[in-house]
Amino acid sequence: MEIGGLQKLTLIDYPGRLAATVFLCGCNFRCPFCYSKELVLPEEIKKQPKIPEKDFFDFLKERKGLLEGVVICGGEPTIHRELPDFCERIKRIGYLVKLDTNGSNPEMLKRLINEKLIDYPSGAKGGDERKFIDYVAMDIKAPKEKYSEVTGVKVNIKKIQESIDILKEGKVDYEFRTTVVPTILEKKDILKIVQWIKPAKKYYLQNFRAEKTINPKFKEIKPYPQEYLVEIQKIISPFFEICQVR
Ligand code: SF4
Repeated sequence: MEIGGLQKLTLIDYPGRLAATVFLCGCNFRCPFCYSKELVLPEEIKKQPKIPEKDFFDFLKERKGLLEGVVICGGEPTIHRELPDFCERIKRIGYLVKLDTNGSNPEMLKRLINEKLIDYPSGAKGGDERKFIDYVAMDIKAPKEKYSEVTGVKVNIKKIQESIDILKEGKVDYEFRTTVVPTILEKKDILKIVQWIKPAKKYYLQNFRAEKTINPKFKEIKPYPQEYLVEIQKIISPFFEICQVR
């Protein structure tokens, strides 16, 4: 597995848990507003210093008892065939695993949720010990008709739908989330997304941060005022058990 980054402690990325975040290289989308071009664009990935797998697993062994979970994000983790094995190795050390995904690979998602770990040792903290993953955060990038435009690639919307359906079966704790990027999404788009995914457990609206974006033009774009997102959140919150602005 090509590891392009490790955040050794996060208090916010794994809900309710102290966690580390591991960043895997490679993504099948090209969202112009993406903040992680060093994990997405092949020419940038080449330049990015890599963390050897051994160092990552040694770190997890050292921090056992101090950290509770590992967030696997990218890039897009589900493009890697080795992902189940990678999750299993993390879980065997005793961590909970959260997956961040763009939902484009429902087959992998299903496998991670439904397949059982063989000879799984007891004693991991919380969660369902038999799954490869314990929590999934799935990005809903746009309303269906805008998906390819917003992600910069031709998206098979049936795959996204399948991933939504798998998560809504409720076999694993999950959230949906949307980064609300001005010039790409506005209130009416969020309302369309809500019509599509409702009812669901958790939905988060995330404000855009103008950073080192894939398309440099997006660096100049001002985020929406927080009040704009709060106004939308008030309208849509009845459709979710939890709905918040991040
Ligand atoms: S924002 Fe888009 S391009 Fe960037 S990692 Fe996520 S899915 Fe890939």
